[in-house]
Amino acid sequence: MTTRIASGATATGTIHYRLDSITGPIVASVPVSNTGGWQSWQSRVTNLSGSATGVHQLYLTFTGSGGDFTNINWFQFARGTGLPNGYSVTQAEASSSQSGTQTEATSDTGGGLNVGWIAPGDWLAYNGIDFGTPTAVSITTRIASGATASGTIQVRLDSTTGPIIASIPISNTGGWQSWQSQVTNLSASATGVHQVVLTFTGTGGDFVNINWFQFAR
Ligand code: CA
Repeated sequence: MTTRIASGATATGTIHYRLDSITGPIVASVPVSNTGGWQSWQSRVTNLSGSATGVHQLYLTFTGSGGDFTNINWFQFARGTGLPNGYSVTQAEASSSQSGTQTEATSDTGGGLNVGWIAPGDWLAYNGIDFGTPTAVSITTRIASGATASGTIQVRLDSTTGPIIASIPISNTGGWQSWQSQVTNLSASATGVHQVVLTFTGTGGDFVNINWFQFAR
């Protein structure tokens, strides 16, 4: 789903989309941080964390540690492909947890955010990625790099030291907002539901920006 938001807040918070009541099941969670101003609008794309079918009353609830933290202009749901969520686009900035990275507005097609400031030793984790069966066979990563250093994105299952299912070599793409879609075959099978963890190796500093990734069969 897509949420059109703006924020001039120093505080951060999360928008929860719920079904049928203010304590109903959460179908999507959208983290919000400062977009550069209360009228600096960005479209945030978020995968649903639960299914939503039929007719419901929809509630937006808000959590955070400060005061006012977001303006909302509109939201829109998109229909799933019928495939498990691993075969939909996962936005890089929608990580469940991370170490060492930051987000920024992206100039890539579709707008929103990309993850940057990614250096060797950093990691990004995504909970609840479902590959179903049969196995995924490839991953497309949307990447940009203005680095002189090169490095590798390692795609792992379930932990920062979990089995590697793909290794994606990264070199300079012509700039930190010069986006390319890189398709990499998996080196091991991936079925069922996992936490997907991206780890980063290399010999220099920051070497890649990531906008999104998507698995394919
Ligand atoms: Ca993104």
